[in-house]
Amino acid sequence: MIEKSIYDDYKIAFSDSYTNDDAYYFIFNNNRELHLTSDKTLPQELTYINIDFKLYIGKFKGKDTFVVNADGDDSFFDLKDVYDIDRDIYLMATRAVLVRDWYINHQYCGRCGTKTVLDENDMALKCPSCGQMHYSRIAPAIIVAIRKGDELLMAKHSYHETIRYALIAGFVEAGESIEEAVHREVAEEVGIKIKNLKYQKSQSWPFPNSLMLAFTAEYDSGDIKVDGDEILKAKWFKKDEIIRYDSDISISDWLIQNFIESF
Ligand SMILES: [Zn+2]
Repeated sequence: MIEKSIYDDYKIAFSDSYTNDDAYYFIFNNNRELHLTSDKTLPQELTYINIDFKLYIGKFKGKDTFVVNADGDDSFFDLKDVYDIDRDIYLMATRAVLVRDWYINHQYCGRCGTKTVLDENDMALKCPSCGQMHYSRIAPAIIVAIRKGDELLMAKHSYHETIRYALIAGFVEAGESIEEAVHREVAEEVGIKIKNLKYQKSQSWPFPNSLMLAFTAEYDSGDIKVDGDEILKAKWFKKDEIIRYDSDISISDWLIQNFIESF
């Protein structure tokens, strides 16, 4: 995962009316793909005609920056591919795409159906009828590297496209703390108890809108039991048995890397 802060290159701001043509443009299409120029960098002019909206989101590398949604499919790249093309652009795009999603998803009030308007103060879409405020939505999720001696617990998820084993992970449910979410997910997915739960770090994961909270823990008690539905198999891996991911984009890979390097 990228170790630098998004704010190393970014000064946050927001406006739907500010304009300056000398700018960087994060242009997304309706598949959430990012447009890059022929030399695979950010466009500095707005060549697309069929633009849905243009929003000012602050300064990236000292230059005014806009998020745009456009109807297009030529030279658009999946965000995970952008990570391999340019890490700085990817990091900024993880925010830009969430601003785009927020604006698209809250054009109408989810409570009463009225067309929303931008709030004067916050990056929020406000309902003029019932007053409901609609902010960008982030879904917190936990991921945990569970260790037993020199082994790491990994599980095979039924929803995974590949046959690969992965760390235990899941969304935080309404009403629980993040620590409670870890203990519950581990109990539900593999049926064991853990101890010495330690928070490590977090990562914005815009696929589609997660905030990943990474933990380490140690095995405490119980035998592995999987439900056979969400989780097909789970087992303990020695470091040489772990099959790494193709990409180091995720905090999951960072946890696995730390486990391997701990010997
Ligand atoms: Zn409303």
